[in-house]
Amino acid sequence: MSVRVRFAPSPTGQVHIGNIRAAIFNWLFARHEGGSFLLRIEDTDQQRSTPEAIATLLEVMQWLGLDFDEEALYQSSQRQKHLQAAEKLRSLGHVYSDGPDAASQAMVFRIPWQAEELCEGIQEQGAMRMKIHPEQPVQISHKGLRFAAVSKKGAAVPDSACLAGFKNLQVYDSEGRQIFVLQEHIEEILRDGRQFSLENAVELRFTRRSISYVDQVKGEMSKPLDSMRDLVIVRGDGSPVFHPANVVDDISQAVTHIIRGDDHVENSFRHLLLFACLGAKPPVYAHLPMIVNAAGKPYSKRDGDAFVGEFRDKGFLPHTLFNYLSLLGWSPGDDREKMSREELVQAFSLQRCLHSSAQVDIVKMGALNALYIAEMEPGEFVAQCREFVQHLPWGKELDEDYFAKVCAFMQSRLKRFVDVEQWQYFFGEDYQRDEKFCGKQLSDDNTLAALKALQEKLAALPEFSAANIEASIHEASDEFNIRRGRLNQPIRAAVTGIGTGAGIYETLELLGKEKSIARLNLSAK
Ligand code: GLU
Repeated sequence: MSVRVRFAPSPTGQVHIGNIRAAIFNWLFARHEGGSFLLRIEDTDQQRSTPEAIATLLEVMQWLGLDFDEEALYQSSQRQKHLQAAEKLRSLGHVYSDGPDAASQAMVFRIPWQAEELCEGIQEQGAMRMKIHPEQPVQISHKGLRFAAVSKKGAAVPDSACLAGFKNLQVYDSEGRQIFVLQEHIEEILRDGRQFSLENAVELRFTRRSISYVDQVKGEMSKPLDSMRDLVIVRGDGSPVFHPANVVDDISQAVTHIIRGDDHVENSFRHLLLFACLGAKPPVYAHLPMIVNAAGKPYSKRDGDAFVGEFRDKGFLPHTLFNYLSLLGWSPGDDREKMSREELVQAFSLQRCLHSSAQVDIVKMGALNALYIAEMEPGEFVAQCREFVQHLPWGKELDEDYFAKVCAFMQSRLKRFVDVEQWQYFFGEDYQRDEKFCGKQLSDDNTLAALKALQEKLAALPEFSAANIEASIHEASDEFNIRRGRLNQPIRAAVTGIGTGAGIYETLELLGKEKSIARLNLSAK
């Protein structure tokens, strides 16, 4: 059977790069395997899932070329199925009602006592002893255990866990007496709803069971059932929660592999039980490590641009983002960093996803963008630049030919389209100057004298070409005992006002004789 994967975002208006990376990995996996990539819009949160949020999501996917197979499934349209599944679980004895009053009872999924008979991956881990605090009586019922754990400092910490976590439970009091044996009462607890309250209990002894699965990225994953609680699946107001909705939709969409962020690992343990109790084969899981900042913390808005739309607005090309995010937590197994879509599809495998968190490096992303920009067809490049300059106060009515020349000159060094705003010095005299840089470059008297001499040399040039300009600068340097090359930054300061740009000789040539000389004439300023 061919693979079926899905991207299942909850549309909230902005699309975080971590989310879209999950989409990219799913897409690459599906395309590599020749399977299907589905889109499921988890729009059950009516407050946040507005039509605008959904439109933004679809637009971002289109921009990145994340085409999906079949029609998008809207989770909100599946509500009846979610509720039917909850009823099915109830009829199989896996659900109990709980809540403050009869009218607002939630449906709670009970992690099954007979877990190993129903679900693959349940294993016994051996005997456990857990100290508990006698301050709170241990409550035992079909809804689980309530007790007080003991903190490091010896204080009582209220806690609870599912009943299934305590196979062969025996409870001991402070005198070492066995005061309760679960095996003797389990039938009446589950069948008749019998409850026990045990005073003065200090220790729980039980056989630990855990649920395990093999994650395609993280390897063998395991969680003790005694660290899990039963799970609300339908709220008191009758609305299904995330867990049954996510699982039921994965069953109806016949999803074979779930590739998503590792913030969902904890959910997946619970979902494996839900799949099993609903009689469905669980999918293969692959949880991707978080995208982090330089400090190793989850990458967020505070670290800089975090949403796809922000990267687009700054002038990153869609393929840069696609390429960069593909390599954020996955590696082709060699040192390739610039890869076409076809190469990525061909090389992708879940086995090569990295186990450790992936650090965002915006500088590296900018360098990759520069490589893709440099490859753009010139006409397309000019058109994109125009898009960005026309929003600038100085960029509305530019001479077309001259603009195209500047574009051709600057194409190989542009990192993001938004940086065309730094090109202002080519077009007028009121360009932004970096005063700190200019002050530093234009403070030395000998340098200023050399620049003055240079003006005369440039004025005398029969042809204002880069080669002639370079020769004049060298002459001026030699005359003033300045090492060749050392005048370049002061010249740049005088004619462009900023410390970065293209080759200075060519920059002057493009600016033209008149403007170059006028700007070098610092005494006039
Ligand atoms: N909608 C959820 C999210 O965006 C679920 C994701 C999933 O199951 O892949 O986090």
